[in-house]
Amino acid sequence: MQKLTLDSHFEKYESFEELTAQDRLLVDEAKKAADDAYAPYSRFHVGAAVMLENGVIVRGSNQENAAYPSGLCAERVALFAAGAQHPGIKIIAIAITAYPEGKKLPVVPISPCGDCRQVMAEYELRYAHKIRLIMEGGKGTYIVSDCVAQLLPFLFSGDVLK
Ligand SMILES: [Zn+2]
Repeated sequence: MQKLTLDSHFEKYESFEELTAQDRLLVDEAKKAADDAYAPYSRFHVGAAVMLENGVIVRGSNQENAAYPSGLCAERVALFAAGAQHPGIKIIAIAITAYPEGKKLPVVPISPCGDCRQVMAEYELRYAHKIRLIMEGGKGTYIVSDCVAQLLPFLFSGDVLK
């Protein structure tokens, strides 16, 4: 038996101003997206903004449904919209934020669910390009990763289906 240890590296920022100009732009777009969320059940508004290689930004927000599993997370709404509307254009970054109605955003930054991580990771593989991930938390706390794969070790790859 051999033990394996995986290292993941992230950057932590303590204020919005500390972020790069591009990250700030994307976080602002994610906030706008969160305003458009349809979240009557969870009351947890999530916004995502995807930046493409050509500078185009595609926003997504969580879209819930009375049949709960029919809804979709903000990240995948944005990613699939980008893939559908701008096929073949690399995705270079995504920002994620949220606000729970009537409550403050948790200080720990909002991170994507497992399904969204899988989808993001496949876009990294598909375009052979890392996707920068900016996750916003309350009190101006941000966690940034230079690629999505760090959040999903041993991801399921389509290579096994070939
Ligand atoms: Zn998700």
